Amino acid sequence: MGHPATSVTRSRFDTNRRQFWIGGAWRDPAAGEGVPATVVADPTGRPAAGSVPAATAADVDAAVAAARAALGPWSASGVPQRQALLAGLADAVRAREADFARLISAEMGAPMDNALTTQTRLAADVFASYADVLDGFTWEERIGRAQVVSEPVGVVAAITPWNYPLYLIAAKVAAALAAGCTVVLKPSGDAPLNAFLLAEVFAETAAAHDVPGAVLNVLTGPGPTVGAALAGHRDVDAVSFTGSTEAGRAVAASAAATVKRVGLELGGKSARVILADAPDGGTVTDLDEAVRTALADVFYNSGQTCTACTRVLVPEAVYDEAVELAAREAGRWRLGDPALPGDHLGPIATARQYAAVLAHIDGAQAEGARLVCGGRPADVPGGLDRGNWILPTVFADVTNDMAVAREEIFGPVVCLIRYRDEQEALRLANDSIYGLAGAVWCADAERAHQCARGIRTGLVTVNRGEFDVRAPTGGTKQSGIGRELGAHGLHEYLETKTIQW
Ligand code: NAD
Repeated sequence: MGHPATSVTRSRFDTNRRQFWIGGAWRDPAAGEGVPATVVADPTGRPAAGSVPAATAADVDAAVAAARAALGPWSASGVPQRQALLAGLADAVRAREADFARLISAEMGAPMDNALTTQTRLAADVFASYADVLDGFTWEERIGRAQVVSEPVGVVAAITPWNYPLYLIAAKVAAALAAGCTVVLKPSGDAPLNAFLLAEVFAETAAAHDVPGAVLNVLTGPGPTVGAALAGHRDVDAVSFTGSTEAGRAVAASAAATVKRVGLELGGKSARVILADAPDGGTVTDLDEAVRTALADVFYNSGQTCTACTRVLVPEAVYDEAVELAAREAGRWRLGDPALPGDHLGPIATARQYAAVLAHIDGAQAEGARLVCGGRPADVPGGLDRGNWILPTVFADVTNDMAVAREEIFGPVVCLIRYRDEQEALRLANDSIYGLAGAVWCADAERAHQCARGIRTGLVTVNRGEFDVRAPTGGTKQSGIGRELGAHGLHEYLETKTIQW
């Protein structure tokens, strides 16, 4: 079926990149023309979405030096100029939203509706939200005879993943620029093209608002070399990383030698607690809705959401009914071509991730979990002849000690776990090395909130709770250090100075 891979090249944007955005200009890699292009694969198996150059240590040095040189003027800029830049970036991303969405869809397989809304408009909302956060933000306070002053932390390295690539870039770049910091951004090599389009959009917006183009620098390259060089760089003051817990540990280790500030947004294995109507009761009001909500939370973005509540804890009395409902509900989800609009699921973003999800599905069955539905589809959808396709998958009879319940899968895989009473539910929810998110479903709002307070994570959703870009997110335990979004996110990029007399 004919959706040509060239759809993204219809825009003005060149998907085969040869230069980095450094020091307010597009620059050739320091290694010159010999630098190999890294191909950005299309997860449907179509021809590549594009290519990007790989930076070397000399490019990292150049980007950091440019960010350092721009720090003085930008940290001295006033709030109105920062607000104008941030609001301008929000408008500019919105104006190019169709281009961003097509790129992101081709790079990482998000269907067009998702690519337009969560992937792109949410990123624009984050830029806009930081213009608002600066309204009335308290930069100084008096404590006795001391004046306590907030100052930008300095040059920030931002290292980001592929699953919500533009939104996760915005969460760092908007907050850092709002604080008066300058940034070197290294996006994921699996979905870097949207970052290059952002650099183009940024160049125009910065010029329009008289902002030095070097306040944001963008380069690409492998995490273990380019990301590590940034994290360990002596002229980088802070590193903000979103990605796997494994790479987060490496980033923290690289940063340790220079004792720089580290923000980590890492993996999760979050739990959703479906509570019975009464502590000793055997019924759940709207169980079908509870199950539908639980599955939608995991299947959206093909399960590649760090906060997805992939462990669904169900009261024993309604467990079998919940399994039946989940099987029926999962069967309503369709795989489909990400180039098309609709609420279908796209492929897994990368071949590496695809292999990992399949291995988890095999492993779960080997350790005794019951595959209710899902796995690898018999036919790839939409006439596409290849791609990283996984059906919405549900496992029953999962116990919390199984690997499928302990390890982050990052695919459309739900584990249904039974529990006897509320205390056991909370114990199971908290029995994880991770602490990113959680959810509670209960008709009784007071009990739901009480349960939410017992879950040891950075974010808990009650019933259909809505995400708000002004409220902080982040993890406890091995899900991370620090918070992003809103005023809390701004504080991550500020140093506190006390002037006493
Ligand atoms: P990843 O850890 O493989 O890569 C993330 C980024 O880190 C990439 O830019 C990569 O090049 C870089 N990197 C890799 N190794 C590095 C190293 N040693 N030093 C410096 N940089 C390095 O993650 P991914 O596969 O791109 O994304 C999926 C992961 O991200 C999942 O574990 C998911 O849970 C996590 N995630 C977390 C959040 C959150 O807010 N907590 C949000 C989205 C994704």
